[in-house]
Amino acid sequence: MPSLTKTFEWLLKRLAMSEQRITYRYRLFPTRTQVEALTVQLSEACRLYNACLQERRDAWRINRESVNYYTQASQLKEIRAHGDLSLANFSACQDVLRRVDKTFKAFFSRVQKKQKAGFPRFKSHTRFDSLTFPSYGDGCKLIQSKLRLQGIGLIKVKLHRGVEGKIKTVTVKRECGKWYACFSVECEAWPLPDSLERVGVDVGLSAFATLSDGTEIENPRWYRAAQAKLRRAQRKVTRRQKGSHRRRKAIQLLQRAHAHVKQQRADFHHKISRWLVNGYGLIAVEDLNIKGLASGMLAKSVNDAGWGTFLDKIAYKAENAGRQFFRVNPNGTSQTCTCGASTPKTLRQRWHHCLSCGLSANRDHVSAQVILQRTVGLTVQASSSIAG
Ligand SMILES: [Zn+2]
Repeated sequence: MPSLTKTFEWLLKRLAMSEQRITYRYRLFPTRTQVEALTVQLSEACRLYNACLQERRDAWRINRESVNYYTQASQLKEIRAHGDLSLANFSACQDVLRRVDKTFKAFFSRVQKKQKAGFPRFKSHTRFDSLTFPSYGDGCKLIQSKLRLQGIGLIKVKLHRGVEGKIKTVTVKRECGKWYACFSVECEAWPLPDSLERVGVDVGLSAFATLSDGTEIENPRWYRAAQAKLRRAQRKVTRRQKGSHRRRKAIQLLQRAHAHVKQQRADFHHKISRWLVNGYGLIAVEDLNIKGLASGMLAKSVNDAGWGTFLDKIAYKAENAGRQFFRVNPNGTSQTCTCGASTPKTLRQRWHHCLSCGLSANRDHVSAQVILQRTVGLTVQASSSIAG
């Protein structure tokens, strides 16, 4: 019975795959009193953050000593017992301490590497925008369509989709006057049925992406409209007097416009990456982390904000679905023909014309094919390492 074997194979594959962390984000609708309470919690968290930072800074500046997380965490109980801190959840306090710890570890590693160190800075209350409850069920819990938070109460949540998997942590965020809850969830791998389809993806400037089969994915229509809107909002800010009430208002509008574009872009990236992962068994992209290699790469890294997160979205979806995903060396993908001949082009030349084999096609289409070709060696490596 082939179907049984298939199911068995699928189960084996699933067992071999590791669990993943993904984040679900939902809008919160707190009441006015809850907003006040949330704001207090955030500013208390900020106060704690700055106090911990102060202690470490003093220790470092005066005695060249480093205070570690455990030393600071052991003082927490006492501080709270004195009533000096009204951050309601104990684990959330520990999380603040861990954030400080992280910034200091990063600082010391920069010092060690003799890089420009940049001492960790104090944070402003207006910019301290998130609070993490590091273990679900401890001070935070979903009860039907409400989120219960210690020190706040039951907050209305818009659960526009179900949370699948085991919730590990909850982070409450403030963004441009709106509130969100981010659930970090451990989800099991869910391999898709095998597919022999392979695709190379070239992210470009003219089209959003071009596939090795010639499909062009256009930049969505909202893109231009959003650019114009952002420019207008930006102009409004610059025209208004510094420190004025009207300028503050304009800044908030600009922030909202940015947030809106960010959400639209994320939505678009999610849809395209899902479509690619569902349709192809092997997906190849350029490794944009290797910066400044080929000509034309510069322009791409300038536009990087979009590409990096888009490729990451493909990566984790591919991993969860048991697809092969490769980041190939981007060096000269736009300057090479599928036959291997070198075909130098400037950024403006949109057409590929190979003197060696006569191939004449859209430049990005050829790049996408070259990207796919570069996985050939890699797939052999991958399968031999599995066999070995
Ligand atoms: Zn050629």
